[in-house]
Amino acid sequence: MKIESIKTFTFFDETQRKYFIVKVETDDGITGLGEVGIGHWGAAIQQAIQHLSDLCIGADPLATERLWQRMFRCGFFPADKVYACAISAIDIALWDIKGKALDLPVYRLLGGPIRDKVVCYPHNRASTLAETVESCVETTRQGWKFARFDLPADLSESNESGPLFEPREAIPRAVELISSIKEAVGDAVNLCIDVHTRLDTANSVALCKALEPFNMFFIEDPLRSENPASYRTLRQQVSVPIAAGEQWSSKWDFREVIEEELINYARIDLCIAGGLTEALKITHWCETHFIDIVPHNPLGPVSAAAGVALCMASTNVGVQEMPRAPGSYAQDLFPKQVLFEDGYARPRDEPGLGVEFNETLALERPAPLNSWPPEFHRRDGSFNNW
Ligand SMILES: [Mg+2]
Repeated sequence: MKIESIKTFTFFDETQRKYFIVKVETDDGITGLGEVGIGHWGAAIQQAIQHLSDLCIGADPLATERLWQRMFRCGFFPADKVYACAISAIDIALWDIKGKALDLPVYRLLGGPIRDKVVCYPHNRASTLAETVESCVETTRQGWKFARFDLPADLSESNESGPLFEPREAIPRAVELISSIKEAVGDAVNLCIDVHTRLDTANSVALCKALEPFNMFFIEDPLRSENPASYRTLRQQVSVPIAAGEQWSSKWDFREVIEEELINYARIDLCIAGGLTEALKITHWCETHFIDIVPHNPLGPVSAAAGVALCMASTNVGVQEMPRAPGSYAQDLFPKQVLFEDGYARPRDEPGLGVEFNETLALERPAPLNSWPPEFHRRDGSFNNW
């Protein structure tokens, strides 16, 4: 079997949510699906996929490790984040092909199952504190065992570049929000707050200390990601569980925080970090340091299925990110997605990832390759991470 072609699709679902899906085709008719992790950078990543096609077309799709090494290293300069996203999507599609060729679900190829189902957390994102509390109550009522919300910006004070975000003002707002959520949903629901790289070290220490009484499941991305060594400073000063890693694009980015045990949860993004091939290595490395994985998945059904496959085969799992309940969205574009019930995901017992894709419909709903996420600003007009 040889790889014959690699196709890319960017399109919207019924709620105008954008997807970037990669399809790898082989000469004996088996195809596989992958998903790109940074949709906003679509044009650059599509260009990288086209460049990597030189290495893939005509190659054996089952030799995933050889192809990964060639894609990451063949340019002599190691793959950056753009290339890592391209490699991730192709690698996930190759594992889908491998499963279909060997007639096994991907989680079985990875050594699973080690568990029956994978606990997931939803996105509880809303415009006001009251609406965020309401959203947590609603997802708890639906059976989710976790609630996850953002470190709140001040949405009442926006200008043309977006909402105001003053770090020191966000801390008491977070305390107020979490107190209200706890009161509304009780102690049985695991609470996670996503700081979203909005703080520097001093304010992050202040936030983590303020949240110590709340028994949070984790504090996510309490620092910007460019300097993993800064987690050393934070770790020395706070005792809350820390989750980080969604912006890191290879095992080397995770090296320091794993080896020095600076985090408690590794937020591996399978669609950014290098696909299943790389995520499996990072996961096993974490196991030796008693760090659990919390796969980052703000994307669609292919990313979700890859994360669930990894969790089904890994002993060190905290929780899987699942923005919306699989099967409740984009059903026309993805008629088969992972199964979901009572806050838990289960893979389909079908060869490969078990995701079906309506390519014809995707072509009818094209989305632009490039876009920009929202922006936050500070009162003095300077920029703050979104
Ligand atoms: Mg995050």
